[in-house]
Amino acid sequence: MHRTTPPTLPRGHLLALLVAGVCGAGGLALLTWALASRSMDLATRIASTAAGAGLVASALLSWWLVRQVMALRTMASEAQAAAQRAGTQLSATLDILPDGLAIYDADDRLVLCNAQYREVNTGTSMAVEYGTLFEDVLRRAARSGHIVDARPDVDTWLAHRMARHRAPELPEVQEVEGDRWMRITERLTEGGGVVVLRADITDVVHKERALKQALHDAERAERSLREAVNAMPAGLEIYDENDRLVLCNDQMARLRPHLPVAESLGKTYEELLRAGLRHGIPQEASGQEELWLAHEMALRGHRPGPEVRHYPNGAWMHMHESRTPSGMTVVVRLDISDLIEQRHKVDAARQENQRIRQLLERAVEALPVSIEIFDEQDRLVLFNQQLSRMYPHMNYAEHLGKSFADILRYSVERGLIPSAQGREEAWIAERLSEHGSRTSTLVQRLADGRWINIYETRTPENYVVAVRLDITDLIEQRQALESAQEAAQQARQLLQDAVESLPEGFALFDADDRLVVCNTQYRRLYPISAPVIVPGSTFEQIARYGAERGQYLDAVGNEEKWVAQRVADHRAANQAVLQRLPEGRWLQADERRTPQGGIAGVRTDVTQLVRKEQELAAANAKLALLSTTDGVTGISNRRRFDERLAAEWMRCGRHHLPLAVVLIDIDHFKLYNDHYGHLAGDECLRRVAQLLQGNIRRADEIAARYGGEEFVLLLPDATVADAVTAAQRCMDSLREAALQHPRSPTAPIVTLSAGVASMVPRPGAQPDSLVQAADAALYRAKHGGRNRLEVFDEAG
Ligand code: GH3
Ligand code: MG
Ligand code: MG
Repeated sequence: MHRTTPPTLPRGHLLALLVAGVCGAGGLALLTWALASRSMDLATRIASTAAGAGLVASALLSWWLVRQVMALRTMASEAQAAAQRAGTQLSATLDILPDGLAIYDADDRLVLCNAQYREVNTGTSMAVEYGTLFEDVLRRAARSGHIVDARPDVDTWLAHRMARHRAPELPEVQEVEGDRWMRITERLTEGGGVVVLRADITDVVHKERALKQALHDAERAERSLREAVNAMPAGLEIYDENDRLVLCNDQMARLRPHLPVAESLGKTYEELLRAGLRHGIPQEASGQEELWLAHEMALRGHRPGPEVRHYPNGAWMHMHESRTPSGMTVVVRLDISDLIEQRHKVDAARQENQRIRQLLERAVEALPVSIEIFDEQDRLVLFNQQLSRMYPHMNYAEHLGKSFADILRYSVERGLIPSAQGREEAWIAERLSEHGSRTSTLVQRLADGRWINIYETRTPENYVVAVRLDITDLIEQRQALESAQEAAQQARQLLQDAVESLPEGFALFDADDRLVVCNTQYRRLYPISAPVIVPGSTFEQIARYGAERGQYLDAVGNEEKWVAQRVADHRAANQAVLQRLPEGRWLQADERRTPQGGIAGVRTDVTQLVRKEQELAAANAKLALLSTTDGVTGISNRRRFDERLAAEWMRCGRHHLPLAVVLIDIDHFKLYNDHYGHLAGDECLRRVAQLLQGNIRRADEIAARYGGEEFVLLLPDATVADAVTAAQRCMDSLREAALQHPRSPTAPIVTLSAGVASMVPRPGAQPDSLVQAADAALYRAKHGGRNRLEVFDEAG
């Protein structure tokens, strides 16, 4: 196929065409001018003339032209057919080529291409028209998705490809759809065109790829092998059939630090040994290197088996040498220092175990209990002599290795276990089922009356360790203790009953002053303190609790002091204490020390008694008052004077103090009675008594009616002068009172005569002597004229 070229006209044809054209155009121009100058006549004429001439010329020219065109078309068809034939022939020739071929002209338009080019370029059978620009062809192919590299971004790829178009670096390799590969080569022609050659190199690429993969696999396998060899915990060396080192892994290289691997590869085994000897390796060869070398070389390839070598640095190596069928020598060295060390440790541990076992056996023998150990199959494997001593009828040495069931049966059949009698098999079954699984100890009674405590435990190894202890003594002691406790309990109950039956409250405190026991009555007597009246409370706690809550009326307001005194009295435990409780109740607390140092206390409700006592005391007091008081004057009577005189006489005698008596007599009282009457006399007596009483200064002094119209002052610790002063004071006050006594010969008012005596009582002397002395003085006062006082004068 070739480019279509338009057919060219012969030069004569062109001229004729030009003349016809000019004639036609001249007529047309004249017509136009005539129309424009509006000279219609002229125009009409010109027009008819020109039209006629033009029509003729045109007709002639058309006929000629048609003939020429016909001739030209025939020529063109022929030329086209010839060209087509030539193109078809060329195309058919190019189609034979195995590669795609295309030719682009200087304008980069497709001039020619073969079927392979079209196919590999587009991926379709769609025709590429000649004249299409190279870039368009490329774009179409890229857009079709046929070119793999162009798929992500057609424009970028296209720009890149166009930049390389007509560039010297081509050829390039292009992947197209279906894992096919093209090599594109471009060659510039002299005319500025370009020949594009696309060769399908899929097979080559595939083969190359397969080759690369194989190479990669091989490399990876080699790397893996190298890594594996280096990862081996053992040193590995391989020598070829000439005993030259061909492989040495890192571990082995480390064992030969004096010689780098690179240097050692290719060397013979002997050369390597010599290199080692030069560095003093091994030490055992020192001084006899050649001999050692000869020995080593003799053994080479004939070692009877693996060797274990101990190196001077302490390492232990396991060396194994073997020959392959192809005559190579493989040497493996393994550092077994850890293993050897482990073995040494195991040996040491075993020895230690042995030692501990002996120790344990001795300890087991030394134990005060019997021990027996059964293995996981319940066979007796160990026992101590204590067991043999505990069960003298059993020969445990013979039972060693026997099962627990057999040993039980042996004992039961001989009637050694009383609790098994009559139900032997059931007892054995029970005993077996609980062997090593009991959570509590088992107490067993033997036929000879002994009690054995059995404690069985299962070890993590499923062994059963049984420990037996003869607890006969313990059991007997416990029985004794239990009966003693029972007796004590009974005694305690008896005591409790006895205590309860007491009408009084009873409490027993121990040596630490803690309540041991008390009866219900005791609590009932102290309802406020009852919550703390419980065994264990101290006496002080109970007392304080009560005092703070108003249990004891005497404690109110001074609780702490009261508690201290109460605790002191309680501990003294030697006198009864009276307690005033609320609601008018009275308790008597009697406390006594017990022989054990405790304190037993009894509380008696003495409310009735105290009330009666109080009533009695009140009556007695009243009586006493009455018996010592003068009924007329209300002051002390003679009886009281006599009592006080006797007492003071004793006291002053003891202390060598003076005791004074003043006897006072109303002057001419008979006349007073006579004048005023007896009742007035009584009144006078009362006035005189009150005056005398009013002059008493001290508590131990008294004024008393001595009898009739006579009075007496008792003044302890008073000298004569003191007594005179007192007597004078009395007489002065009476004078001041000025009680009228018209009939008195002495004075118009009532007057007194007084006799004063004072003495320090002498041992053996009677108090009467003092009164008699005062009386003597009074006598003198009367006879001296009355209304005066006289002092006793021993002289006279
Ligand atoms: P002298 O100065 O000597 O003491 O004269 P006197 O009258 O006081 O003494 P005497 O002994 O002669 O009389 C005492 C009188 O006191 C006689 C008696 O009636 C009277 N007397 C005694 N006791 C009472 C009494 O209790 N009441 C009254 N009213 N008079 C009494
Ligand atoms: Mg008288
Ligand atoms: Mg008188």
